[in-house]
Amino acid sequence: MYQGNSHRYEQMTYNRAGYSGLKLSALGLGLWHNFGSVDPFEKQKKLIHQAFDLGITYYDLANNYGPIPGSAEENFGKIMQDDMRGHRYEMVIATKAGYEMWPGPYGNWASRKSIIASADQSLRRLQLDYVDIFYSHRPDPHTPAEETALALNQLVLEGKALYIGISNYSGSQTARMVRIFQELKTPFIVNQVRYNMFNRDVEQGLFPVLKREKKAAVAFSPLSQGLLTDKYLNGIPADSRAKKTTSPFLHPTQVEQTLVTVRQLNEVAKKRGQTLAEMALAWNLRQNAVASVIVGASRPEQLVDNCQALENLEFSTSELSLIDKILAE
Ligand code: NDP
Repeated sequence: MYQGNSHRYEQMTYNRAGYSGLKLSALGLGLWHNFGSVDPFEKQKKLIHQAFDLGITYYDLANNYGPIPGSAEENFGKIMQDDMRGHRYEMVIATKAGYEMWPGPYGNWASRKSIIASADQSLRRLQLDYVDIFYSHRPDPHTPAEETALALNQLVLEGKALYIGISNYSGSQTARMVRIFQELKTPFIVNQVRYNMFNRDVEQGLFPVLKREKKAAVAFSPLSQGLLTDKYLNGIPADSRAKKTTSPFLHPTQVEQTLVTVRQLNEVAKKRGQTLAEMALAWNLRQNAVASVIVGASRPEQLVDNCQALENLEFSTSELSLIDKILAE
């Protein structure tokens, strides 16, 4: 029977999600990859146990994570049932709806019809009574923002979600949702967005809005799917995401295109006494708006490495300028 490491809460940092009472672990674990029906179940379990032992409390899912879509929620639900049930109240479990999940006009986007049905399906797959955060996975250009917000609010009123998040919403879309949620008194706390050294748009358009509205950002793909690590410095390993045919999201050409920059960043990291992954995560967490960075991991050692980022979160002005210069070249 799994027993959590008794020192787990000593090594992690917990940040309040904006002006809410909810604290998120500075590192969260994302289940987009490595938790599908194609991935060995025992390996998945080891990753969850490792994450929990490191003090990671935030687990990020979506209805469509797999492959096959839905299987990450199912597997996570099984792991919870197997030997993590006693720890449910120590965990922030999040899921989302908004990308294509089932055929026809209702298995996608953010109508009331899609969100309510998707949330019910997710809870069944996860074998949970409620999730801690339910996200609208992306803004829906064909559904009024009020309709999406009311559907999310209903999940809270029915006890199916404790908090509400949005994901991939721009600054102006976020400001609009904030106004509606304020009227409804919805516990809306967070916008989950792509943020890493290679993707910095949110610094201009979104972070000032989040700061003004006292809401948090959760950063996804903080390692740019593995590009911002040392793993591709000597070629593309056979078991890496860039080689996997089951998850065609990172292409070998992206590895080639970023290699010169990554090598230079790796030198900066070495001078700081960090791995590149650790530095990339620390760099994300330097932003006050970012309450948590959600990492993916294919093996437990990666999580151990990633959590060591917390040992050096400080950047000197010259380090930041050098990183900016490298990224601008
Ligand atoms: P990352 O940028 O953290 O990339 C994860 C990958 O990087 C791992 O699978 C692994 O690759 C590699 N890696 C991780 N740590 C290390 C390390 N220390 N050393 C070397 N390599 C390492 O995140 P993801 O792109 O996986 O996204 C994280 C989560 O964000 C997702 O699981 C999901 O929950 C969320 N997300 C949300 C989206 C949204 O629209 N809201 C969109 C995308 C993601 P390898 O497998 O090659 O070993």
